[in-house]
Amino acid sequence: TYVIAQPCVDIMDRACVTECPVDCIYEGARTLYINPQECVDCHACEPVCPVEAIFHEHDLPEHWAHYLAVNAEYFEEA
Ligand code: SF4
Repeated sequence: TYVIAQPCVDIMDRACVTECPVDCIYEGARTLYINPQECVDCHACEPVCPVEAIFHEHDLPEHWAHYLAVNAEYFEEA
């Protein structure tokens, strides 16, 4: 799955939302989230993010590694 990390917070450009073919990017109060159960790993979102907030789960910088859980947990609460 792809993951949205800290740079999206309070930015929410939404360019990724337009690109995602399965509409699995959702809007929270301060950031966007990718639903890991719906993401098809197509990579379309990552290059269009103007603040480079999107990473494949295996390419997350170490200091943002917890965003994998942050994205997943957002959908568990729903
Ligand atoms: Fe959507 Fe593709 Fe990005 Fe997954 S990798 S969130 S399916 S655009």
